Amino acid sequence: MEFERRRVIVRALQGFTLSTGSPIGWAFIRYFSGVDLLQDIEQNFSFYLYLAIGTAIVITSFGAFVGRQEQRLTKMSLVDELTKLYNGRYFHERLLETYAQSIRSETTLSLIMLDIDHFKDINDNYGHFVGDRVLSSVGEAVRQICRSGEIASRVGGEEICVILENCSLNKAVNASERFRLAINSAEVVLDNGKTISVTVSAGVASSETTTTGAWDVYKAADEAMYRAKQSGRNRSCV
Ligand code: GH3
Ligand code: MG
Ligand code: MG
Repeated sequence: MEFERRRVIVRALQGFTLSTGSPIGWAFIRYFSGVDLLQDIEQNFSFYLYLAIGTAIVITSFGAFVGRQEQRLTKMSLVDELTKLYNGRYFHERLLETYAQSIRSETTLSLIMLDIDHFKDINDNYGHFVGDRVLSSVGEAVRQICRSGEIASRVGGEEICVILENCSLNKAVNASERFRLAINSAEVVLDNGKTISVTVSAGVASSETTTTGAWDVYKAADEAMYRAKQSGRNRSCV
């Protein structure tokens, strides 16, 4: 997940632009004190050079540092630490934005709701630490399999929702199976050599069939996921 890398470049460029104010400002002061500017620059060339290059290096580096900090804070506020997937806050914003975009461009938005099966049993049998490791490996499997136009977020304890931009219901069902199988094959190896893997139940919905709003698509995906649970788990339901 390359997070807002351009922020560093933008802040560095802004720093560089600001830094030009230093030699230009000094030149103005000299000019308005009645000095022949060209002659002044010629005579004090190394001073002007020092002002220009020195300030550029300091303020550009400072800009890049500020950009890096902003990038770090933005990432912290939008990415879930355990799974390294986006968090619920990002999901909410992105869902509304993507839905509005799908209406404007008359394309279909689909959602996949994934919920790990019997996850409580893993916590109960192996402890929360192992539960966390499983969540982390599920997150990694999901991130690896995500294609462009697919945005996966951790929306609950062991629930992941994937937004699929410009994706029909049929394609979303295929994608759902792709995610389900990838999660099934993710394994956590314990210290005693035992491996743990989990299954997920998935609910798929799209704006093709539910057109009243983004949250209705979300609700439909959630309901489909519950149907997958009721009909035996480890499957995708529409
Ligand atoms: P089902 O198949 O019906 O979904 O069963 P389940 O056990 O997965 O469902 P339930 O909602 O009852 O349990 C979810 C569990 O997820 C309960 C909670 O302890 C666990 N959980 C939620 N967040 C975390 C977390 O961050 N770390 C760990 N280790 N466990 C978590
Ligand atoms: Mg759950
Ligand atoms: Mg569950």
